[in-house]
Amino acid sequence: MNEDSVRETRKEKAGKGRPALKKTGIHRAGKGAGRGHAAQVLAAVLLAGTLTSCQRGGAAETEPAVRDFFAMNTSVSFTAYGDGAEEALAAAEERMGQLESLWSVTEEGSEIYRVNHSGGEPVVLSRETADLAEFALEMAEETQGALEPTLYPVLEAWGFTTDEHRIPEETEIQELLSNTGYEKVRLDGETIRLPEGMELDLGAVGKGYAGDFICELLREQGITSALLDIGGNIQTIGTRPDGSDWGLGLRNPFGEGTVGVLTVSDCAVVTSGNYENYFVGEDGKTYGHILDPETGHPAESGLASVSIVTEEGKLGDALSTSLFVMGPEEAEAFWRENEDFEMIVITQEGEIIVTEGLEDRFVLGNDFQNMELQILER
Ligand code: ADP
Ligand code: MG
Repeated sequence: MNEDSVRETRKEKAGKGRPALKKTGIHRAGKGAGRGHAAQVLAAVLLAGTLTSCQRGGAAETEPAVRDFFAMNTSVSFTAYGDGAEEALAAAEERMGQLESLWSVTEEGSEIYRVNHSGGEPVVLSRETADLAEFALEMAEETQGALEPTLYPVLEAWGFTTDEHRIPEETEIQELLSNTGYEKVRLDGETIRLPEGMELDLGAVGKGYAGDFICELLREQGITSALLDIGGNIQTIGTRPDGSDWGLGLRNPFGEGTVGVLTVSDCAVVTSGNYENYFVGEDGKTYGHILDPETGHPAESGLASVSIVTEEGKLGDALSTSLFVMGPEEAEAFWRENEDFEMIVITQEGEIIVTEGLEDRFVLGNDFQNMELQILER
């Protein structure tokens, strides 16, 4: 499939061909009040931390080892329980540093930096980087280009890579877009070749994949109860030490607070939204850091946030970004076609859509009882 046909297919799906949200099998579990009210309650765009309010357990619970640091351009917090937790987290922090120095787009000497400055020559990658690149390319294919790991030059033009934000001219965007397209990347085993002028950015999947590596490392060290927070990507090992599930607050994409609590164990919960990394242009409009690869503009798909619950962080990370680009209907269709994840989607209108696998695991917070909540059934 060539580049144009891929783009066209997704556009067709996204446009006129879009299926209407199926109402069959959907019921409302919210307490009455409609959209308008919910939207009023959820006004300004702000960020709120991921809440782990239920982490504090009974008296029998041992003190956890905790490690907070900065890596991969974001705040990281690791919590682990049990014997050897301190040492295991020290090793985990070191591993994060190693992965960052492989995958950083800006760090000279990183593998991705070498690929992006290879002038079209082949580059041999480490196994980790080759696996991550392979996964990103596969997911790009599977999401029909909603995940697009070659958007870096376009992100740069918007200033998202430097925080010197600007609104690029349309001609500039179109010119940069002509130099993107995951299908032009050649990966053969551990050897990658990127056409000259193109740049790879695994930022939309790297943190999830790093979380998978850290979980593996911690398990190898005998850890059976841990919670990783990598810039809001949550990955858990086992349950809390007392055997109960972890309680995770789902942040309100419109303002302060958490819209509800999700209880999980042994899984990844990865959220994407445009409420954290964005800027307000001179035109007063808000521009977020997740771009629609078809337009080169910030995705405006009608979604405020997408949270994916999966076994593996890398899949959650890839899907949270790409389903955010797709929007509610396409995301629903994608969920119906793929059995390996559940999701909670919050629309710009303040509606919250929860897939059936999470129905018994998610409760709305006290201040958000008015949100319209739909359960999607397969
Ligand atoms: P975050 O990294 O903020 O947790 P995501 O996992 O959703 O959020 O990744 C967003 C990052 O991925 C952006 O900051 C940008 O570097 C890159 N990006 C933006 N749009 C896309 C896209 N459509 N496909 C792939 N990567 C993207
Ligand atoms: Mg992501």
